[in-house]
Parts: sequence; structure tokens; C-alpha cells
Amino acid sequence: MPDATDAVETPTPRRKPKAPVTTIGGRTMKPSTLMMGYGYDPMLSEGSLKAPIFLTSTFAFESAAAGKRHFEGITGQRPGGAEGLVYSRFNGPNQEILEDRLAIWDGAEDALSFSSGMTAICILMLAYCSAGDVIVHSGPLYAASEGFVAKVLSRFGVTYVDFPAGATRAELDAVMEKAKAQAASSGGKVAMIYLESPGNPTNALVDVEAVRDARNAALDPAVTPIAIDNTFLGPLWQRPIDNGADIICYSLTKYVGGHSDLVAGSVSGAKRWMDPVRALRNTMGGIADPNTAWMLLRSLETVELRMERAGRNAEKVCAFLKQHPKVEGLGYLGMVDDPRQQDIYHRHCTGAGSTFSVFITGGEAECFRFLDSLKVAKLAVSLGGTETLASHPASMTHLSVPPARKAVLGITDNLVRISVGIEDPDDLIADFEQALAAV
Ligand SMILES: *Cc1c(COP(=O)(O)O)cnc(C)c1O
Repeated sequence: MPDATDAVETPTPRRKPKAPVTTIGGRTMKPSTLMMGYGYDPMLSEGSLKAPIFLTSTFAFESAAAGKRHFEGITGQRPGGAEGLVYSRFNGPNQEILEDRLAIWDGAEDALSFSSGMTAICILMLAYCSAGDVIVHSGPLYAASEGFVAKVLSRFGVTYVDFPAGATRAELDAVMEKAKAQAASSGGKVAMIYLESPGNPTNALVDVEAVRDARNAALDPAVTPIAIDNTFLGPLWQRPIDNGADIICYSLTKYVGGHSDLVAGSVSGAKRWMDPVRALRNTMGGIADPNTAWMLLRSLETVELRMERAGRNAEKVCAFLKQHPKVEGLGYLGMVDDPRQQDIYHRHCTGAGSTFSVFITGGEAECFRFLDSLKVAKLAVSLGGTETLASHPASMTHLSVPPARKAVLGITDNLVRISVGIEDPDDLIADFEQALAAV
């Protein structure tokens, strides 16, 4: 019996072309080109070159049958999400254009936008974990992510096994066996392998390829996805899907937003991995709002320019800091000594980023004098913006970390965290030079 919805051949017109253009003269266009137009047709919006911001809570259906068909997508009866716009907790034109463009950078089939990086991460984990399950994760994680696993998911019967970021294949094999045994004893499964690379503020890289091989050897890859927080190097300097990750998440607040003027997050990956995440986002809310999505479309047009410039600036600034007598050491991916970390870097990364640690001769007092003397760089946490920021992790972002754990992570009192922006590099060097002179 044909269903009324089968007669609906044309989905509700959306602000995107039916057949998006991704090639020119036989070549596939690069993300930096696609960011100017992919997924949006001005002729569907009065010729407006930039997508309008669609401020509406709900969308009109062209027919009752179309409405039914769209709800089949929303409720998951048809996988892959709704074909039409329905209600602004589920989807919207600005968010959809953003999601299409985010997926391009990661080489992912699909992407979902969220109101913050933490909303993305929490909904991702909740979508995959049930009571009795185990999450395997690298350490250190962003403090709120680590807290969500240890303090929130634990209340719902989900436990974890963690391992240090630089772990080898043999160590990872042991971690997988431990997690399997833990899951068997609590009547659950290993629900997810969750990574963050590089770690903050250690900059230790996770060997994603070794994690994939260890997962494939010990667990069913169709059941246990590998997710990775790519906030520090993505989307430009690291494409973890190419190294075996299934799901990528971001705090778009950082490099992708890039102007320190918004908070947002995303999750991307194959459609089959995104469907449960979308379903939970539909239920809970947490989608990015239309204005923030629009701001991110603006940001994506320059993300490559900004990240390239910030990366080159960081290289120059680090070359200066490295030889300074008041600098004891640098935690910068472009100057790693450890051969294993170097090997991971060359297999996984195309750039060293612009966020690094400086170890200043002295302790908290010397770091505070340095920070209080900066005139160009601003004293603030966060990273990835156009402006250079500096902070003191031991007394700020990592203040609540117990001393023993701080020692393990190398978060010493003489560590200053710097995120280099896109200013003139010689001005930045002059600023760091005068601030070090004040120490
Ligand atoms: C900032 C950050 C987050 C959290 O993102 P919000 O947008 O602040 O919610 C998660 N992971 C990493 C690595 C971050 O730097």
C-alpha cells in the first residue's frame, strides 16, 4: 500500500541548491573555496549574497504529507535526519549550511552543530553510553570532559578506563583488555573510545592509528566508535578521520569561531554514527542558535587564513622564546624531542598549531610578573582567537587539579600557556621580550 508520504517527491525548498557544485574543470574544489558558497543558493533568498539569519521557531509545511514525511526523519523512522525544516530545536537553514561546511573540513559525511563544545561532547557521550558500559579515554582531557565522565556518567552506571596520551600499541592492547573485562563484569559493553590530542597543557599527542589497531583487534569496530576532540589542531592541522577516528568533536569557540566572540560546538562523522547523536539533540535541544551559526559561516571563510598566519606567528615567537635565558623550556609541537611523539606528529599533523606552553625560570611569582607586564598579549584563558592570549594553568584552568595529578601532567608553577593570534609577529616578540625583561 503506497503511503501518503511516498507521493511527496520534492522536499520543502531549503536555502541550499539541489545539486551542490563541488568540482570545477574536473578538479575537486578545496575547502577554502567551498566555504564561500557551498550549501547556499542566493537565488532562493532574494539574491542575498550572504545567507539571511532565519529567526523563526517553526517552519510551514507545503502539505500535510510533507509534514508527515519530515517527522519521519526527525523521529528516526527514516535515518539520516529530516529532509525538510520542521522546528528550530531540530534544524534550521543557518545551522544546516554550517553543518554541511564543517563536514567538508573533516572529510566527514555529516556534522551536527551545538550551543557549546561541552554540549556537543556531553550529548555525544550520552548518545552512546548505557548503564554498565565503559568509556575508554586518553588523559588528560579538557577538565569539563573528564568531569562529565568521572562525576556525571558515573551516576548512571557508566565507568571508565583512562590511559596517558602517548601510550604505545602494547599499552593500548592492555587498556582494551582491561576495559573489556570491566564491561563484562558490569554487564555492558565498551561504548566509546574518547580521545583528545594534543592534551592540554602537556601537548602530548595520542597515536590515533595505534588506538584504531588496538580497538580493531580487541573490540567490534561497528559497536565501539573512536571519537576525538580535535579543538586544538582542527580543522587545518589534523584530520583524525584519516588516521582511523570515527567521530570528531570541536569546541568551535576556539580556532573555528576564531574571534573570541561566540561559544559553540560540533560533532562530525559518518551518518550512521551521527544518527543517535542527532536523535538525542532533537530530544534535549542544544543545537547552535541561528545567529551563532551565521557568525560561524563568517568565521569559516577565513579559518585557513587565520590558522596559517597564527601557526607561522607561533613558529617565529617560539624560535625567539627558545633561546631566551629566562625561558627554561617550551611545550610546542614544532619542537618536540621525544622520538615517539615526533613520529606521531609526522603521521597525524600538518602543522604545530599556535597554542603552546612556556616554562619560565622561577615559579608563580615570576610567571605573574611576566603576565602582568604583557602589553599586546591579553591575560585570559581560551585559545584560537585572532588575538594572543596568555594564562597560568596551575592557578587558573587547572587550579582544582590535585597536586599529585598536576605533577604527573607536568603542570608546574613556572608554566605559562600562550595562544598566539594573527598580530604582527615582531610586535608579539617585542612584547614577550619586554615582559621577560620585567621578570
Ligand atoms: C574549550 C574546549 C572545550 C569546551 O568547549 P566550550 O565551547 O567552551 O564548551 C572542549 N575541549 C577542548 C579541547 C577545549 O579547548
